[in-house]
Amino acid sequence: MRIVFMGPPGAGKGTQAAILSRLFGIPHISTGDIFRANVSEGTPLGIEAQRYMDAGEYVPDGVTNAMVRDRLTHGDAQPGFILDGYPRTVEQVAELDAMLRSSGQKLDAVIELTVDIDVVVQRLVQRAAEQGRPDDTEDVIRRRLEVYAEQTAPLIAVYKDHGILIRIDGLGDIDSVSNAIASAINP
Ligand code: ADP
Repeated sequence: MRIVFMGPPGAGKGTQAAILSRLFGIPHISTGDIFRANVSEGTPLGIEAQRYMDAGEYVPDGVTNAMVRDRLTHGDAQPGFILDGYPRTVEQVAELDAMLRSSGQKLDAVIELTVDIDVVVQRLVQRAAEQGRPDDTEDVIRRRLEVYAEQTAPLIAVYKDHGILIRIDGLGDIDSVSNAIASAINP
């Protein structure tokens, strides 16, 4: 199973991707988590990424694509993977396509979690209080939502055209959302 999660910040991609990863026994690959780990370890990648993340902007495609390309070569990702937060730009879609094609693989499903913008802002503000993520301030949240609408929302139509888009209402409680995802993938 090769699955991509899409949806605006706060839609619950990370939560649902982690549940599905346990269910299917395939790795959950979150570009945001990888960047955050690099930031906290102070690696060159982390130092490069941090200024974009703190501003709510996307890390440049060249940096992100190289990181994902490397991650997908690890042994644990050979039977399948769940990508959370990648691809987010037209260029990343093309790049992922090329990575998979070169190893004779393809995506099985793109899951779009749909949510109401007010709910998302509320969830992110709450996460800020609980986890203290530096990009969960109100201004940066607003910018992240704008960048999502401009650069990532258009990708949904691309995957719809490919016939692999699955739309799931992300507004229910965690269990009902993950049940809906599991039965949409494994009917
Ligand atoms: P969220 O979806 O809640 O905004 P993430 O943890 O997925 O949070 O990402 C946090 C930040 O990491 C993004 O705002 C961006 O700066 C960076 N990032 C994550 N994935 C990508 C990507 N595919 N391309 C560029 N930047 C990314």
